[in-house]
Amino acid sequence: MKHHYDTIVIGAGIAGCSTAYFLKQLGQDVLLVDKKGIAGGGSGAAGAFFSPKVGIDLPIKQLSDEAFLFAYELYSKHFSEHFLQSGILRIPKDATDAQKFETYRRYITLEHEIYTPQKLKELGIQSDFEAILFPQAGICDPSICEQMAQGIEYELSDIKELNQENDLWICGKYSAQNIVLATGYETDLLDIRYMSIKGIWGNRGDFKTQFKLDLSMHKNISISANFDGVIKIGATHELDVKEVIPCDEKSVAGLLEKASSLIDSSDFELTGMHCGMRASNRDYTPTVGKIIDVEYMLQNSPNILDGRRYPLRYIPNIYLHNALGARGFVFAPYCASELAQHIVTGKAIDARLDPDRLFYNWVRKLK
Ligand SMILES: Cc1cc2nc3c(=O)[nH]c(=O)nc-3n(C[C@H](O)[C@H](O)[C@H](O)COP(=O)(O)OP(=O)(O)OC[C@H]3O[C@@H](n4cnc5c(N)ncnc54)[C@H](O)[C@@H]3O)c2cc1C
Repeated sequence: MKHHYDTIVIGAGIAGCSTAYFLKQLGQDVLLVDKKGIAGGGSGAAGAFFSPKVGIDLPIKQLSDEAFLFAYELYSKHFSEHFLQSGILRIPKDATDAQKFETYRRYITLEHEIYTPQKLKELGIQSDFEAILFPQAGICDPSICEQMAQGIEYELSDIKELNQENDLWICGKYSAQNIVLATGYETDLLDIRYMSIKGIWGNRGDFKTQFKLDLSMHKNISISANFDGVIKIGATHELDVKEVIPCDEKSVAGLLEKASSLIDSSDFELTGMHCGMRASNRDYTPTVGKIIDVEYMLQNSPNILDGRRYPLRYIPNIYLHNALGARGFVFAPYCASELAQHIVTGKAIDARLDPDRLFYNWVRKLK
């Protein structure tokens, strides 16, 4: 007999672990599965800066602010050992960016403070421009994923296929009522081409140093506060890298070079390199919810390619939590809570996360 669960969550990054956490809070019997281990993908490579979005008042910024406050509450109350509330400085890249920051300031709804170049200098940070400090921001230790998965059954396994038998999902040796796919940039288990989820490669270097730095900061790279003698530097910008490529000292040296324009990195000694992919989609907004049965829709909707709309049919009892972009540690808890409530109580998921938004745009391009 297969062991049966209410829900199997595939992928144990921050998306999968936070989903499993909220499902368990709501009383579900959950199995968490990952082929590389907990936080073995992008979440383990991440600098895991917990940093708000700065920008004009677009829906994505409002969503990001709400998710930030939700995650702040969760991390500081329940995961404080894995969350260093160092504050994060957002520093403009150049004069043009500094002008944009002037505009962005009026849209900031989160607690913040302006740091002048003089004040930054007193902290050992070089910048010709004013920066914005977000005191609630900080850094998560990727081991927060393991902490979220505490008390949840976990299996190291590479899931190659999913099958349905008598309304149950069969996943390797196990069966479940529901499946949650939280597999990051790897999306080959089902046809979800319409979501256009792509990987963006990035790397992080950990450096041993005596340099005293109490704040974390973000310019075009992220630099953490000094935590137990280690400063983390990370970035994810490499759009052309399609697979996880091994870390090399050359790319990490590039991070250090950029960091040295901001802080004194003369005694930095490389102690660890981490590389990985983060998953994003076309509109840089998380996608959380049901999955459309693409094959059925294309075969049974005669004029769909001409733009005609049909009622959507979904694959039953399978859900997705993905495309968290460069802010996985900001978005995941909110998205996970929305999804878990939907699965357990039927409550509608925040419509801004709904993957359906991507379907008809994708279909139109098929013609
Ligand atoms: C270098 C780098 C720096 C980053 N810095 C930050 C940062 O400072 N702040 C921030 O918020 N975000 C950052 N990000 C982004 C952040 O890491 C992602 O948003 C986040 O990791 C997404 O989490 P996830 O759970 O969706 O994906 P992942 O963490 O990639 O998890 C997906 C998991 O699914 C597993 N999996 C896939 N397919 C299968 C299968 N068939 N069977 C079993 N298991 C499977 C994988 O092994 C993987 O562990 C960074 C990313 C990188 C790469």
